[in-house]
Amino acid sequence: MPRLAVLGHPVAHSRSPAMQNAALAQLGLADEWRYEAIDVAPEAFEACVRALPAKGFAGANVTVPHKGVALAVAEMATEMAREIGAANTLVFAPGQTHAHNTDAGGLIAVLPSDLHGRRALVLGAGGAARAAIWALGALGAEVEVWNRTVARAQEITIEMDTQSVHIQVAESPLEIDQDAYEVIVNTTAVGLHGEDPFEHLPLRREGFRPGQVVVDMVYGDVPSTLLAAATAAGATTIDGIEILVQQGALSLQIWTGREAPVEAMRAAAYSLGDR
Ligand code: NAP
Repeated sequence: MPRLAVLGHPVAHSRSPAMQNAALAQLGLADEWRYEAIDVAPEAFEACVRALPAKGFAGANVTVPHKGVALAVAEMATEMAREIGAANTLVFAPGQTHAHNTDAGGLIAVLPSDLHGRRALVLGAGGAARAAIWALGALGAEVEVWNRTVARAQEITIEMDTQSVHIQVAESPLEIDQDAYEVIVNTTAVGLHGEDPFEHLPLRREGFRPGQVVVDMVYGDVPSTLLAAATAAGATTIDGIEILVQQGALSLQIWTGREAPVEAMRAAAYSLGDR
């Protein structure tokens, strides 16, 4: 039986096992495939990945804090994963690990399909921001990045500003004209532990508008404080669970070659809301 897993640290809270096992059941593959969560400390990550194929694993998802190392340990990687600088999906082929990034594809699946010349604001400069920047760039948006630690925003800008992705650093909260953005994506961890996003991020509660798309990658309480304010102002909102579902669907397609049952995955992911 091929095994699949999510590798993270910590990982017990992950909704991926319930979501992926629901998908495998829906596809009639539950007797053939199994998906589990494996807690791996950073120092043990590479050895763990090397040992997985012999234990029957066909692939794995990778989450915080391993996405950068996952790319580094793979012998082959998609261009997208290389450009983002992180992998969240591994495929174990005979003698080789292949790295993919489905976080960006998950975002592309839910964002407006053409953002040419439209301004987009990414809040944060960590791993999730890299995927968001890549996705927005692929859709043609003019991307601006704000981060609490300005040096990190500058770093990501230098690394990811290419012919296809144009990025600027939005240095001061005062420079941020919230109304001017077609898309705003929060990739910071703000809200994860109940923080008020309007205290920590350069956004005003009343600053959203109809026509805007607001994404909050953080999930926990649904809707988040950020998305509740955006919805109240008439903006279109996309929560972090939907992004989780979309990236998971792409990963499942890579491993099984089957079209993912997104509705079953969504139902399983949202039903864990009170855990
Ligand atoms: P990361 O690499 O650790 O980056 C964390 C980011 O949050 C940094 O930009 C950090 O700013 C910022 N931050 C943390 N506390 C802050 C505060 N109080 N005020 C302002 N900024 C703050 O983490 P990541 O991998 O990018 O993940 C970020 C979030 O996205 C996590 O909550 C994660 O669960 C979520 N996520 C969701 C999905 C999904 O599928 N829905 C996928 C990936 C990640 P500094 O640089 O200044 O420290």
